[in-house]
Amino acid sequence: MALDLKSIGVGIGPLEKEYSWKDAVIYALGVGAGFDELDYVFENRLKVLPSFSIASVFDFLAQVAIKSNADLSGILHGEQDIIFHGPIPTGGALHTTGAITHIFDKGPRRGALVVARADTFHSDGQKLFTNVFTLFCRKDGGFGGEPGPVDSWQAPAREPDCVEPALPSPEQPLLYRMSGDIFPLHVDPAFAVASGFQKPIMHGLCTHGFACRAVIKHLFPGQPQRMTRFKVRFSRPLYPGVPISTRIWKLGGRRAFFQVVNEESGEIVLDRGVVEWMSQEESQRRQGLGGIRFDGQVAVITGAGAGLGRCYALELARRGASVVVNDLGTSPDGAGSASPAAADAVVDEITALGGRAVASYDSVATVEGAEAIIRRALDSFGRLDILVNNAGVLRDRSFHKMQPQEWDTVMAVHLDGAFNVTRPAFRHMRQAGYGRIVFTSSAAGLYGNFGQTNYSAAKLALVGLLNSLELEGARYGVQVNAVAPIATTRLTRGIIPPRYHDLLQPEMVAPLVLYLCSEVCPASGQIFEAGAGFFNRVALLTGKGTVVGEPGVPPSPEDLARAMDSIKSMDGAVEIASAMEIMGPMLEAFQADSSDPAPVSDAAPSVEGLFRRMPEVFQPQEAAGLDVTFQFEISGEGGGEWYACIQDGQLQVREGVHDSPTTTIEMSAVDFLDFAAGKLDAMQAYTTGRLKIRGDLMKSQLIEKLFAF
Ligand code: NAD
Repeated sequence: MALDLKSIGVGIGPLEKEYSWKDAVIYALGVGAGFDELDYVFENRLKVLPSFSIASVFDFLAQVAIKSNADLSGILHGEQDIIFHGPIPTGGALHTTGAITHIFDKGPRRGALVVARADTFHSDGQKLFTNVFTLFCRKDGGFGGEPGPVDSWQAPAREPDCVEPALPSPEQPLLYRMSGDIFPLHVDPAFAVASGFQKPIMHGLCTHGFACRAVIKHLFPGQPQRMTRFKVRFSRPLYPGVPISTRIWKLGGRRAFFQVVNEESGEIVLDRGVVEWMSQEESQRRQGLGGIRFDGQVAVITGAGAGLGRCYALELARRGASVVVNDLGTSPDGAGSASPAAADAVVDEITALGGRAVASYDSVATVEGAEAIIRRALDSFGRLDILVNNAGVLRDRSFHKMQPQEWDTVMAVHLDGAFNVTRPAFRHMRQAGYGRIVFTSSAAGLYGNFGQTNYSAAKLALVGLLNSLELEGARYGVQVNAVAPIATTRLTRGIIPPRYHDLLQPEMVAPLVLYLCSEVCPASGQIFEAGAGFFNRVALLTGKGTVVGEPGVPPSPEDLARAMDSIKSMDGAVEIASAMEIMGPMLEAFQADSSDPAPVSDAAPSVEGLFRRMPEVFQPQEAAGLDVTFQFEISGEGGGEWYACIQDGQLQVREGVHDSPTTTIEMSAVDFLDFAAGKLDAMQAYTTGRLKIRGDLMKSQLIEKLFAF
């Protein structure tokens, strides 16, 4: 029997396989997922593990062995390389076709390699993944063929950046085989002994799934859809119940190497691991192409029993979200008795559409009511991804006649209500590492409206809440935006001229709110107006201003009066991202006035050179008692990723990405070189947006002391 070289290029497939969420969950359980990774095992929030891709087309491998005419008693699964084109949906049908692409000869008694490639498409038409299978045919070498390419993979000569321990259970193969690989070697003790083992062994692909979970956990936690490549060599058998660890080396550029090690024997069981992943932006862009969906997500909409809120609730449910329809069921001015009818009616509408929704009748205006609204989501659906603060009432009155109670009622629903509901929601989202919050502002607040001082004050106060909450949520994946709608509802029917009623349907606002609630939306801290199909962004702009008078001498009011045209000018006005940046225009104005020529540099050091030089310029006396890791993300030509760990007065500088830096510094290569050369002031760089800092802002101020560049 010999390998059939004519099998190269001959098509294999199509292989058809239907699967449901249960298959994805059984697979995830088979590779060790549990309560601490509910996303892989809970159908309400399911994310399919990328390595499910090979388990789902496992039959293809058997076809490769048969088609190539390999000696079946000598075949081993040698390597597996998977390229991902998009996230794997939680159910559907898979259509796989491919072919053997190469047969390599390692030499007499050294075996042969049969390499095959297969593309898998989902029943929705999307190409999901490409598998490159390598079969090691121990008994088929020595036929005089090409030896094949040499793999240059080498484990970095340093400790791994992260290590994930795991303990597959003694019964692990019994669970894993439910995903399709029922070969007796993994279940039948007699067969295992006859094959030269003490007992049934782990499936290599089961260990592969453990490694896949480990790299996601450390490199792009909670976002399996970002994986673009996962490659391993199966190097040693492993018995179930033996502790393992996945050792990961980050290489920079969203690439890492890994190995899986048998912790008892020290043997490498999975070798030459390569994982690659895409940026969050790219992942969001790709998901956007597939349509904005909310499957598995849970949304709370306040005031959803009527008008705009009802519309948001229906549209979110249509696109897969489970919805808490909150509404007190009150009159437009919030007076009189409440009624469950409004919320119930919308829940009935959603249920009739085949969606999932529960009603909540609590008022947003009390702390207890608001907490009950969020609890309703968690008790009913087990999670919370989206909050739209929409409940509203009006008590219009010209200011000189405004009664304290009218002021208080409007504040209580719009401003206190937003605080009351958002606080428990935000706490939950912050912990979950994901959330989308929308506040409802209004043109009355943004620009003013006669007779609405209470309402305007509340609606603009929400912008202040938005501005600061955006900064607090950014590190935790919680994005916050505001919509200022205009639509015909019971609140506005009497104000909007009848000829515009049809044009201004609430349905024309909902697409913006859905976008802001979606995973694909990168915006945070922004205000959008929407009505009648017209959408625009509203922003606060800060004028460039001017310096008045001599440095250090207070100008007179008359000086200011003369300079008022320049002070008021909005030419070249900019958006300021946070109060920390407000010094930016001021420093720039002084710089523009300064006649000092910029210092000229006589050398052109590289960013890489600077990082190499860091240990020389390090000031250990400044580092006593410090435990801090600075991650540097330097963009542009010559840039890259480096991190500096300082502990007990010691410095370690490495290329790559640290998994839990204290502070992350983002700068362009040009600015970083200028900063190191003393030509760019850190404060000025920060206030003008040329230096971005994530994480512990205060610690960033140590950099100038710690390194005498
Ligand atoms: P709407 O009256 O049709 O809907 C508001 C809903 O909020 C009602 O069902 C009401 O029962 C509910 N509600 C009131 N107080 C509540 C409370 N304490 N707890 C829970 N629910 C409560 O009004 P709408 O026009 O759909 O307004 C929705 C939001 O949009 C409001 O915040 C409003 O200020 C804002 N807004 C609307 C427009 C517009 O043109 N319609 C313009 C700007 C802003």
